[in-house]
Amino acid sequence: MTQIIDGKSAAQQIRLELKQQIATLPKMPQLDIVLVGHDDASEIYVRNKLKAAAEIGLKANLHQLDEHSSENDILALIERLNNDSAVNGIIVQLPLPAHINTHKIINQIAPQKDVDGFHPYNTGMLQNNEIPYFIAATPLGIMKLVQRFCPHLSGKNVVIIGASLIVGRPLATLLLNQECTVTITHIHTQNIKELTQKADILVAACGVANLVKRDWIKNGAVLIDVGINRCDGKICGDIDFADVQDKAGAITPVPGGVGPMTIAMLLENTVHAYLLQHQS
Ligand code: NAD
Repeated sequence: MTQIIDGKSAAQQIRLELKQQIATLPKMPQLDIVLVGHDDASEIYVRNKLKAAAEIGLKANLHQLDEHSSENDILALIERLNNDSAVNGIIVQLPLPAHINTHKIINQIAPQKDVDGFHPYNTGMLQNNEIPYFIAATPLGIMKLVQRFCPHLSGKNVVIIGASLIVGRPLATLLLNQECTVTITHIHTQNIKELTQKADILVAACGVANLVKRDWIKNGAVLIDVGINRCDGKICGDIDFADVQDKAGAITPVPGGVGPMTIAMLLENTVHAYLLQHQS
């Protein structure tokens, strides 16, 4: 029997604990979100983040900029937020419009307020196996789910499909730091199935609907599905859920797996930012 890794209930528990913790703080932690332009998916993600923040008692502000805003406009806003002591966490919703240099914008966020964990200080500390201020929410959420099913990660063979800066790469580093043997694959990887068949833990984060089939996995493998794709009017993942049933040891569903954990980790990072900034 394949076990379902219930990210939704794990995330609910974390949000409840955060709500209780926030109620004990003298002031509401504050998250400021910068959204440039009108990308449909980004608007939905931002709305979900604002709603989730309000539900646990975080203050969240949205700074919506016109899609023709210049790099300097965005840099100036970030600088203002960096210098505002009421602001604990800053995120810039990605993707940015094509005329904006994303690295330049992310690099401007103060590392101590970079609750998305994308600033090179934070990614660099992770690479060095030191403690960053923040770890990106999706890989952090995945680690929490994986550790529930595999408390002893040392020596496990992990394959990650997808090498993005926000999921595949930081997740590979986190798993390597836990002494896993990690293989990162991407669109140019040859014979990918031969690699995935050896994985004790397989993470699919490529955005290709139902890519991973039954013959891609090892018996009893733990499968983490990060993909969010539209299939016949529904949301589906990168793993063919029905096809891998009873062969996988455990799997995260889509929806209800990694997605809710990502939001919970962003909220956790914001509370962490508040505590960092109020350390005496
Ligand atoms: P991305 O486009 O930045 O990167 C995709 C990666 O997958 C690249 O490294 C690419 O080379 C690789 N890839 C693409 N097609 C492939 C194929 N056929 N075989 C092997 N590798 C392939 O994407 P991203 O931002 O990392 O997102 C990946 C997926 O995860 C998307 O569906 C996205 O919506 C989803 N996502 C979900 C969450 C969540 O919270 N659940 C968070 C972030 C991203």
